[in-house]
Amino acid sequence: MQIDAVSRESALTISITPDAEDPIAVDGKPKLSRRSMTAQLPEGWSLDSIHPDLLALVALLTVRPWIHSRLQLTWAVSAHFADTLRRTMKIEVGPVSAEVQPRNHPLRGVPGLAFSGGVDSMAAAAVMPSNTIFYFNERTNPPGSGPSLYNMRPALHACAGMAAMGRTVRRVPCNVEHVRNPLGVPVDLANSIPAILMADVDNLDAIGWGTIAESSYRTGSHGWIDYAKRDIFTNWCAVFDAAGLYFFNAVAGVSEVGTSTIVRSSPGGELAQSCIRGEIGLPCTKCWKCVRKTLVDSAIIGAWPSERWLLESLPSPEPMRFLTKIPIKHECVLTFALGRYKGSAPQLRALKSRVRADKLDVEWLSRHYIPALDLVPHHYRIGVRASIEKYLPPMTAADEAAFRGWTMDEVENSPSFVELAANFENLTKSAAEAHKKKAKA
Ligand SMILES: [Zn+2]
Repeated sequence: MQIDAVSRESALTISITPDAEDPIAVDGKPKLSRRSMTAQLPEGWSLDSIHPDLLALVALLTVRPWIHSRLQLTWAVSAHFADTLRRTMKIEVGPVSAEVQPRNHPLRGVPGLAFSGGVDSMAAAAVMPSNTIFYFNERTNPPGSGPSLYNMRPALHACAGMAAMGRTVRRVPCNVEHVRNPLGVPVDLANSIPAILMADVDNLDAIGWGTIAESSYRTGSHGWIDYAKRDIFTNWCAVFDAAGLYFFNAVAGVSEVGTSTIVRSSPGGELAQSCIRGEIGLPCTKCWKCVRKTLVDSAIIGAWPSERWLLESLPSPEPMRFLTKIPIKHECVLTFALGRYKGSAPQLRALKSRVRADKLDVEWLSRHYIPALDLVPHHYRIGVRASIEKYLPPMTAADEAAFRGWTMDEVENSPSFVELAANFENLTKSAAEAHKKKAKA
């Protein structure tokens, strides 16, 4: 892959030219669809505003899925950065120049957060240091791109709300999500591109995300795996570190149950909205995130959704698609939520059996996993732990053992869960259809 970078009137444009062997169109995977990416930075920004290794990191995040083995740049990087990329990801980046010194983590630096305005991101904001700078990757659409369901207004409202509270928030218009087809970030960490582009201007020593335990420790998919030893963590951590940025995942040991609890009482928490389809303060109520969040919040506050929600929101196509999968994405969170359900709605009782909430106790999801803090930069560790514990108690030794032992094996291997899923689906859909007929009559 060959990459050129130019800046003009504070806008960065990265141009992409694939090599013949680059896997740009593999069946079943997002394809490289555009050959450039543009980001609009604050006035005065130019290529002189950024260390060459940071710029190489931005290029890497933009095209990582489609690099065969070579990343050829029109600027030189440090030998340290190139060595790190070779060792971790088997990618040869160049040219390398002895004149480029590695970027050291700045003294008296500040952390940045790749901020989305969603619940997990807002929870990270609540527990990171008070001088953390927020960077919002504001999706721009190149001419000719089709319509999108994504409504950015709630996220921009969250940015404005945090700024009104005295926090530094930078919105960076950027079209990196259009590099691939289907639309989306090339790699999860690419939403940090705005922060990386501003890292030297703002003196950043670390970048954080709202990555939660279900993702970091994989408890939200097939079962627990040690985040500290996962390649995805160690490799990216090393590459960011080589560019003078610590990885700062403040809520990696906190479940979605925990982040939902944090934003219920943290300053600005009311601004958080994970639904990307609804309006400000009015989530759509019918997407997968809305349905899951309703169940989790209901469990936390002890008030369950109305009959109308059961008949109109729960049976919506997207949530039903997720809820009938085996295993369900973030199933443990639903096990927690339904574990607190004592009502008699047939749909929720069926879902409770399906997610094993009638036999498993996962109350430990409402507490935080202390070993995750070992992965936070050492000088931020004590402060973050104190901040998290304003909202959540730590897990006990027994909790930690249960967390580490979490697995989906039973669900994935026993046909009885297929039956339970079908039962839930039939009950939910037939109740919704009866409700529709009644409304028409
Ligand atoms: Zn929604």
